[in-house]
Amino acid sequence: RFITLEGIEGAGKSTQVERLAGALRAQGRRVITTREPGGAPIAEHIRALLLDPEHGAMCETAELLLMFAARAEHLDKTIRPALETGVWVICDRFTDATYAYQGGGRGLDVAPIATLERLVQGALRPDLTLVFDLPPAQGLARARARAGATDRFERETLRFFEAVRSVYLTRAATMPERYRVIDAAAPLESVSAEIERLAVELHET
Ligand code: C5P
Repeated sequence: RFITLEGIEGAGKSTQVERLAGALRAQGRRVITTREPGGAPIAEHIRALLLDPEHGAMCETAELLLMFAARAEHLDKTIRPALETGVWVICDRFTDATYAYQGGGRGLDVAPIATLERLVQGALRPDLTLVFDLPPAQGLARARARAGATDRFERETLRFFEAVRSVYLTRAATMPERYRVIDAAAPLESVSAEIERLAVELHET
């Protein structure tokens, strides 16, 4: 199975990626965790380009294309090989992030994003996407409190993250069978408990 975790900065998804993987491994399942942009050697190089604060803002179209270039590598080198051998893949961000950040945040059209999605992924979509939802002001406060949160994406405005959040919630509402929205404003322990419950559910189905 292919499970992705999404949300704005400070939603706590990176912590929960590891929690979910740990809970699934405890059931005896083979699981890898990975992330986007990145998750394979060339894709990690592309990530470094995307997050490099040195060169100022990247042109939006270049950003979109690099996201999908990294994704193509990630799918080819990491995700598909794992899925083909029965290993579950838990990924910190995937194409929903492109709809949310490059589409909602940057305001790029949805049509080219959908075209690139088909080109790069074919029919592959996540089986389940967890959306860690919280108000951007709260997420940004958390993200800023953590060390190293200085890449250029984290200098975006609240309005930018409101747009990102709204795309995530709209996608979750229009395709409810694939999404689960998690209240990430709740205390860490209750979010973790929800993830543990989800792992049990996944084990049973
Ligand atoms: O999830 P993580 O914090 O590692 O993502 C790194 C940065 O890349 C984040 O600041 C995120 O906002 C940004 N990003 C983006 N568009 C994507 C994926 C990630 O702007 N499609």
